[in-house]
Amino acid sequence: MKKAFPPKPFHERPIATLKGVGPSIAAKLEKLGMKTAFDLLLHLPLRWQDRTRITPIGALQPGDSCVVQGEILHTEITIRKRRMLLVQISDGTGMRLMLRYFRFSKAQQENLPKGKVIRVFGEVRRSAVGFEMIHPEVRSVNSEQPAALEESLTPVYPATEGLSQNKLRSLIVGLLDELQQQPALLQDPLPVEVRKQAPPCSLVDALLNLHRPPPDVSQRRLLEGDTAWQQRLAFDELLAHAVSMQQRRAATRSQLGLALKLDEAVKVKFLAGLGFELTNAQNKVVAAIEKDLQQEQPAMRLVQGDVGSGKTVVAALAALQAIANGEQALMMAPTELLAEQHWLNFQKWFSPLGIEPVLLRGRSKKADREAAFSAPMVIGTHALFQADMQFEKPAVAIIDEQHRFGVHQRLALRDKRSDGRMPHQIIMTATPIPRTLAMTGYADLDYSVIDELPPGRQPIKTVVMSNERRPELAERIGAACAAGEQAYWVCTLVEESEALQAEAAEDTAEWLAEHLPNVRVGLVHGRLKADQKEMVMKAFKNAELDLLVATTVVEVGVDVPNASLMIIENAERLGLAQLHQLRGRVGRGSRQSHCVLTYQPPLSENAKTRLNTMRDTTDGFKIAEADLKIRGPGELMGTKQSGELNYKVADLERDRHWLPVVKDLALELLHQQPDAAANLVVRWMGSKTQYADVG
Ligand code: ADP
Ligand code: MG
Repeated sequence: MKKAFPPKPFHERPIATLKGVGPSIAAKLEKLGMKTAFDLLLHLPLRWQDRTRITPIGALQPGDSCVVQGEILHTEITIRKRRMLLVQISDGTGMRLMLRYFRFSKAQQENLPKGKVIRVFGEVRRSAVGFEMIHPEVRSVNSEQPAALEESLTPVYPATEGLSQNKLRSLIVGLLDELQQQPALLQDPLPVEVRKQAPPCSLVDALLNLHRPPPDVSQRRLLEGDTAWQQRLAFDELLAHAVSMQQRRAATRSQLGLALKLDEAVKVKFLAGLGFELTNAQNKVVAAIEKDLQQEQPAMRLVQGDVGSGKTVVAALAALQAIANGEQALMMAPTELLAEQHWLNFQKWFSPLGIEPVLLRGRSKKADREAAFSAPMVIGTHALFQADMQFEKPAVAIIDEQHRFGVHQRLALRDKRSDGRMPHQIIMTATPIPRTLAMTGYADLDYSVIDELPPGRQPIKTVVMSNERRPELAERIGAACAAGEQAYWVCTLVEESEALQAEAAEDTAEWLAEHLPNVRVGLVHGRLKADQKEMVMKAFKNAELDLLVATTVVEVGVDVPNASLMIIENAERLGLAQLHQLRGRVGRGSRQSHCVLTYQPPLSENAKTRLNTMRDTTDGFKIAEADLKIRGPGELMGTKQSGELNYKVADLERDRHWLPVVKDLALELLHQQPDAAANLVVRWMGSKTQYADVG
């Protein structure tokens, strides 16, 4: 007799080799990210049904899904508004339950005669005359051989087209039965000492119980993820992510960079020319960066500072440290307009030190580009990343307003030096990173916050009103401009089409110019050529225009301190992060600034929450926390596409209490039991870590 191979452990068993999985099912499962039998077991139920007991009709509650057993009192087909089959049953508890079918066959109808005892499962609803179920499942009950009830709660899985509930159930049941007989098929990857810190339940128990919960478990707790079973899985997953993050971090840090000495004399000279003192928060971040750059390990630091907190000057100091060492600094902005704004600032700051920053535009001539390759300080857009940009010796690369770039774009820097050394990278963003995300060691970066605004700033006052009050707003702008203030009017459209956006902005500009003859109105939108855009922006900056009508192109980084009024039309269409960015264009000087958010009624609940959040706070962190609640972590900072924050089981909000624990454990595990650490990562994230293409 041929010797049977021992069955493979679940995490090594490819999904396509499972019984009942043909090529087309396998393809569908893989598309959902399930590659092994273990992955399939991690496809947890969305909710559960209780088919373990019979509920008396007298005890039914609307909204419950339950099993009821009773005798048919009456069956009829009515044709009121629609043709339907009505079946009334009673179980002797005093009340009756109506079953209602809109689709039914003749056979079905004949199968439900008066006097028959049936068992039904469905959702209970209140009807005009009592309780009813629509399209319940029916089974006849044979009095000699009463059908058994389920022994555990019935899982309801997230199903998709071509992957039905029944198919998923049968596949998973197959695995569960096997697991029950041979728990060794799912070895616990956690060493005993680590398991002591995990929720008190084995991996096998967690999976068996979540797919087949015992009848007495509270469904509320299951739904809230408040069981040791769910917590154990979340713990493992968060730990796996933390380990993978540390591995990646170690890989980055092991590359060779350049140790850049700090030149105190140059720094003192630079600061003396600024005309203002750095805030404590700026000094703190500057110190962290100075220390980073003095190491031979390449730095990767994310600097978060709310709009207007003064990130540019921090960037300038980092650049200076490279230049003072005879190396090169690069600064990348998300738009040409911003690149130019930085260039003007850097010129003002660096020229007195004998350093001439170079601005590279998309349309710069070849000779100018080549000259930039050896310039000490180069400023431009993401065009700086292009392959033909052969910079001689970039040592510090600063990326401003990172959220506008895909996460991947910062990587192209790696091969920018011919000596193979990796430039230090500083990424600046105004997008606040909620504490929970920061604690996951977001994208492997060191993290600093400029948590203080320069002195003299007053919080922006925000009001929310309906679009109908447009004429009133126009008047208000007229008055503000007459008093020497400048204002933005931001037009939004749901359509992504730039053409339509531009058109809407043009109409608005025309309307405003008509109503406000004494106000000088300018217009920028995405369809203007770069130099046209720049001309308008410059005119606004130089106060040659009073009112700037714009599409959301003004969102990022534009710095016009004299502007103190902003109207955002149809603000309900924008997300919180974008609203916060836009609003940050005002409140940059010492004058009291105002922001008016107008909306098209009626407002959805979600939109109402967003607008109220904007009205109630200017604190970027609070706004980000609210955003996280409304949208979930996957959408923040454009990470959705990159899938960096896709968890199978864990929920960053719900399970945040584990984050500090797993962070420490991950380090410990990597140092003391690298094999167990590697196993855990493979188990949860597949053979390659999901961060492999980043950095
Ligand atoms: P952001 O962080 O949004 O990029 P900026 O770097 O554009 O902010 O700075 C906003 C404004 O504040 C600029 O006009 C800048 O010169 C000014 N600024 C920066 N730091 C200080 C400071 N410590 N004191 C006073 N003004 C400052
Ligand atoms: Mg900025």
